[in-house]
Amino acid sequence: MTTDRTHVIVGASLAGAKAAETLRAEGFDGPVVLIGEESDRPYERPPLSKDYLLGKAERETLYVHPQEWYAEHDVDLRLGVAVTAIDRAAHEVSLADGTAAGYAKLLLATGSSPRRLSLPGADLDGVLYLRSAGDSDRIRTGFQGASRVAVIGAGWIGLETAAAARAAGAEVTVLEMADLPLLRVLGHQVAQVFADLHRDNGVDLRCGVQISEITGRGDVAAGLRLADGSHVEADVVIVGVGITPNVQLASAAGLEVDNGIWVDAQLRSSDPDIFAAGDVANAFHPLLGKHVRVEHWANALNQPQAAAKAMLGQDVAYDLVPYFFTDQYDLGMEYAGYVEPDGYDEVVFRGDAGRREFIAFWLGGGRVLAGMNVNVWDVNEAIQALVRAGRPVDSAALSDPETPLESLVGG
Ligand SMILES: Cc1cc2nc3c(=O)[nH]c(=O)nc-3n(C[C@H](O)[C@H](O)[C@H](O)COP(=O)(O)OP(=O)(O)OC[C@H]3O[C@@H](n4cnc5c(N)ncnc54)[C@H](O)[C@@H]3O)c2cc1C
Repeated sequence: MTTDRTHVIVGASLAGAKAAETLRAEGFDGPVVLIGEESDRPYERPPLSKDYLLGKAERETLYVHPQEWYAEHDVDLRLGVAVTAIDRAAHEVSLADGTAAGYAKLLLATGSSPRRLSLPGADLDGVLYLRSAGDSDRIRTGFQGASRVAVIGAGWIGLETAAAARAAGAEVTVLEMADLPLLRVLGHQVAQVFADLHRDNGVDLRCGVQISEITGRGDVAAGLRLADGSHVEADVVIVGVGITPNVQLASAAGLEVDNGIWVDAQLRSSDPDIFAAGDVANAFHPLLGKHVRVEHWANALNQPQAAAKAMLGQDVAYDLVPYFFTDQYDLGMEYAGYVEPDGYDEVVFRGDAGRREFIAFWLGGGRVLAGMNVNVWDVNEAIQALVRAGRPVDSAALSDPETPLESLVGG
């Protein structure tokens, strides 16, 4: 086993950068190596389907830290090179450029990748996925020459991209297998709000459809053939059908993997010197009492801070209430909590869902499991407090806008 004090982080995105920052903030003065396969220094992805895609934000605004931050904090940032293997016995990672780096502690922050379609025509030019800044650039360029955009998948990425395509002036068709967008995550009532939002903004939203093929003109995508034989014309096809965690390194190294790298509340894997955080980690959550893998920004921001502290031997447990947000057209929303599909008894509304100005609460056994504030602000902390309290709440009071949410936290 190495006696080297080097802390190595694989994956130079939000989670990796935040872990490096925390190691230094906590006073660690040994070597920190941050290795990323992308050529950009760590950046944030949410703007890639929002302001950056709309051309309203500059590339420079995406970055987690200024370029000089890494040298100033003595973080050895190695970009454009993938880690290809972990040798757990030697405490060493191999890099694609033939070099190696020894570690005392290793953090895997390898994130996730878009699920690829395996339909006929899926390899045609003009079939685009959205994960990296380069992907967002390609989609923006695609919008410029496109009058018709088809989006496969009405999840968060698909819907945000559809909204951006509408803003770019394209005719947009969104195709979704389920009966409503986001149905599994939100349930019928709230999913309907998102369906209405997109239809009101001129999107041709088709739910309950199967795609059999991406059709082409030569090598270039020209549309989609549906299982019922109909055809949707498109100059650009964007695919947003979910993501899968990048667990290849962990699996090959024999770490426990199950829908992500299996880690405890300290973000420690089945190897005590290897940790995982961000999209790739399936972590035990003390508040929820089970393992959850969260594919959202706030998790990639906060979880690696706990992981870095644990790498330094501090006694931490990551138990923040899962949180995410979206912006589409004039709708802004925050969601806090965690609900399995069908894992709740009722949805209680406060405010006017028709006007898209409301809070929705998902209740199980009378307790608030999750809440979503739509175009209503400064309430998410109270929603998180309700989730964290885990006490039965009177649903009439919950739906009454005159009752401060804070007053319900105590039960
Ligand atoms: C377009 C888009 C919009 C989003 N919008 C929202 C939003 O509105 N709200 C929200 O809450 N969340 C949003 N998210 C999700 C959020 O951005 C992610 O949860 C977050 O980026 C996860 O960060 P991460 O660091 O864990 O992983 P990633 O961002 O996936 O980064 C992992 C990094 O590791 C690198 N890597 C992988 N394997 C290796 C290897 N072997 N060697 C070296 N490097 C490797 C990858 O290249 C990548 O750079 C969005 C995501 C996308 C793509």
